[in-house]
Amino acid sequence: MALIVQKYGGTSVGNTDRIKNVARRVGEFRARGDQVVVVVSAMSGVTDGLIKLSKEITALPSEREMDMLLATGEQQTIALTAIALHALGIPAVSLTGAQAGIVTDGVHTKAKIQNISPREVHRLLDDGNVVIVAGFQGRTEEGEITTLGRGGSDLTAIALAAALKADLCQIFTDVDGVYTADPRIVPSARKLDEVAYDELLELAGAGAKVMQLRSVEFAKKFGVIFEVRSSLNDNPGTIVKEETRSMEDVVIRGVSLDKNQAKLTVIGVPDQPGRAAKIFRRLGDGAINVDMIVQSASHGGSVRATDISFTVDKPDLLKARKVLEELRGEIGFGEVQTDEGIGKVSIVGVGMRSHTGVAGKMFEVLATEAINIGMISTSEIKISVVIDLAQGEKAVRALHKAFLG
Ligand code: ASP
Ligand code: MG
Repeated sequence: MALIVQKYGGTSVGNTDRIKNVARRVGEFRARGDQVVVVVSAMSGVTDGLIKLSKEITALPSEREMDMLLATGEQQTIALTAIALHALGIPAVSLTGAQAGIVTDGVHTKAKIQNISPREVHRLLDDGNVVIVAGFQGRTEEGEITTLGRGGSDLTAIALAAALKADLCQIFTDVDGVYTADPRIVPSARKLDEVAYDELLELAGAGAKVMQLRSVEFAKKFGVIFEVRSSLNDNPGTIVKEETRSMEDVVIRGVSLDKNQAKLTVIGVPDQPGRAAKIFRRLGDGAINVDMIVQSASHGGSVRATDISFTVDKPDLLKARKVLEELRGEIGFGEVQTDEGIGKVSIVGVGMRSHTGVAGKMFEVLATEAINIGMISTSEIKISVVIDLAQGEKAVRALHKAFLG
C-alpha cells in the first residue's frame, strides 16, 4: 500500500464534470489499495474573479481580508470534490489548510509554510478516507488565515508530500508534462521523461510556466520527487528529481521564451563607485525583481560615464521608471529609456557543465537567422539572450532545431 499525494490545478477542477473525473481517477488509485491525499486549486478563473471583485471596491484592499476572500475559492473545490467522491461511494473528508495542520508565517498573500502537523490527515487516512486538502492556504500560530502566493497549491502538495513522507507526489495539470519547448511555438517539441529540479527551476524562471517556482525550490530542498502529468488523459508525465549522471549526456534539455520582460536603460551614469549600488538597492527596496544587467564601457570626456541596461518583469516597468526618476538628481544621470518589445530566449541543461562550445553554437544559430542579441546572461546550466520580441518565436524554433532536432 502506497501513500500518494495528488494535486489537481484549476483547469482540472474547472467544472463539475471535471471534478467528477477527478473523483473517478482518485477512486482508481484507492481501488488499488493506496491511501490518497488530494490537494485542489480553486476552479479556474475563481481566484481572478475574487480579486476583480475586491478591485471594484478599492485599488488597495487589506491583505488580511484578501486572504480571507481568496481562501474561499479552494474551499468550494474541496467540498465539491468530497461530494463527488461520496457520489461514487468512496469515503472522503475535506479539510481547509488550517485543519490539515499547515502553519505559516504571518505575511498575508505570500505566506511561507513554517511547519505541517499532519496528525489529522493521518487519522482520517487510517480510518479509510480519501483526504482532500485546500491548496494555497494555511494559518498562522495565532489562527489567522493566510495564502501562499499565486499558484500556491503546488506548494501545498509538495509540502504535504514531504510532511507525510508520501511514496509518490503527482501534479495533475492541463499539459502532459514538461516539454523541450512550448509545443504551440515548436510543433516538434517533445515531452521529457525526466528533468532535474535545477533545470525545471531555470525553465520556469525563463518563462515556461509549468509550476510555481517556490514549490520546485521546496521540492529540491526536501528531495520530494514528483510527476507532472495531465488530468485529461492517462499518459505518463515528466518525473522531476535530483540530477543524475546520465542527465549530463544531453547538452540541452529545453528552450524557452519569456515575453514578460521589459528593458530599461539609464544613460550617462557617472562612472564612480557606488552609483550602480544605489540604483539597484533602491529598486530592491521597491520589491522590483531585476533579471539581467549590462553596463556599457566607460565613455565621455572629463566626467566618465556609462550606460546601464537591465530587465524587469513587465508589470514592474512603471514602478521601476518612477524609482529611477526619483534618483536622477541624486546620481546625476541623463535620460531613462524603456523598451517593452523584448523577449528573453534561454537554453537550459545540466549537460552544459560538461560540454563546451554551447554559447558559441547558440550565437551562431541566432546569427544565421539574422537575429541581433541585445543582452546576454549565463548560469552554470543556462544561457539567456534578450532579442527583439518579434523574433522570439523564430529564435526558439531555430535553437530547438539546432540543439534538440
Ligand atoms: N487558486 C490560486 C491561484 O489561482 C492557487 C492555485 O491555483 O494554485 O493562484
Ligand atoms: Mg492555478
